[in-house]
Amino acid sequence: AAGGNRYEMADDAADARAITRHSLTTALPAALERGEFFVEYQPLVRLGDGSVRGAEALVRWSHPQHGILGPDRFIPLAEHTGLIVPLGRWVLDQSVRQAREWQRLFGADEDVLRVNVNLSPCQLHHPRLVAETVEILERTGLEPGALCLEVTESALIGADDDLLKPLRRLAEMGVDIALDDFGTGYSNLANLRRLPVSVLKLDRSFTQGMQQFPADPVDLKIVEGIVSLAHSLDLAVTVEGVETGAQADQLRELGCDTAQGWYYARPGPADQVRALSLVDAAS
Ligand code: C2E
Ligand code: CA
Ligand code: CA
Ligand code: CA
Repeated sequence: AAGGNRYEMADDAADARAITRHSLTTALPAALERGEFFVEYQPLVRLGDGSVRGAEALVRWSHPQHGILGPDRFIPLAEHTGLIVPLGRWVLDQSVRQAREWQRLFGADEDVLRVNVNLSPCQLHHPRLVAETVEILERTGLEPGALCLEVTESALIGADDDLLKPLRRLAEMGVDIALDDFGTGYSNLANLRRLPVSVLKLDRSFTQGMQQFPADPVDLKIVEGIVSLAHSLDLAVTVEGVETGAQADQLRELGCDTAQGWYYARPGPADQVRALSLVDAAS
C-alpha cells in the first residue's frame, strides 16, 4: 500500500512465541542451500553534496512460512551454530558481485560506488577470511578499495594481535575497515589508534538523541568531539539512522562525512541504489 518495493518485517514481539528459535535454527542450513536469503542495499550518502557514496548490504531471509525475516531474527542463531561463516561468505560474494555490476554501469573511476558488508566476530576468527576475501575480489575483478568491511566495536574489544592480523592484512590490501555501532561499546578511545580502521560508524543512538528539537546540547558536543577526534586520526565518520532533513543538516554542520538512514532511503533492491545515483548524476 505504501508503494514501491516495500514490505514490513514480521513483528518480533508478536511472532516470537510462534516461531521458535529452535525451528529457525535447524532450518538455516537448508535455507542457505535453497537460496532463501537475499541482500538489500541501503545507500550511503556524502553529506557534503548529497551524492551516493555506496551502499550497505543487509541480509534478509525469505522464509517459506513466516515471510521476510530481518537479520536480528536469525544472525544470532547463525552465529551460535557457526552457519554465519558460509552465510557471511555468501553475502560477501553477492555484495562484491553487485558492486562490480555498479562499476559496469557507472564506470570505475575514483567516484565508484562502494559496498559495505557486515562481518560477524565468528568470521573474524575464521582462518580463511583473508584468503576467501582475496579469492572473491580476484574472481570478480573488484578493486579492494571498493569494499568496506564493517566490524562492530564490541567484536574488537580487547582484541589481541592475532585477531587484528587478518584485518590488518585486508587493510594493507586496500580494503576499508569500518568500526560499526561506534559509541555503544566501552570504547577505549586510545585503543582506536591500534585498530586498522579507516571509518567510524556512529551508532543510531546518537542520531536518535538529535531527533528532539532543539537537540540536546550535550549530545551535540559529544558528536562534535568524536568527529574531531576521528578526523585527527584520519578516520572518516559515517552516521546511521538519519531520519530527517534537520538531522542531516546538523550532522553536516558537525563535520560528519557520510550518512545513511530512512531520510535518504530504506534498505531496498540494488536497483534503488542505481536509480538514486542516476538522479545524482543528472542533477
Ligand atoms: P547495522 O549494521 O547497525 O545496520 C543498520 C540497521 O539500521 C539496519 O537494520 C537498517 O535497516 C537500520 N536502519 C537504517 N536506517 C535507519 C533509520 O533511519 N532508522 C531506523 N530506525 N533504522 C535504520 P537491519 O537491516 O534490521 O539489520 C540489523 C543488523 O543485522 C545490522 O545492524 C547488522 O548488525 C546485522 N546484519 C545485517 N546484515 C548482516 C550480514 O550480512 N552479516 C552480519 N554478520 N550481520 C548483518
Ligand atoms: Ca553495519
Ligand atoms: Ca551500525
Ligand atoms: Ca546499529
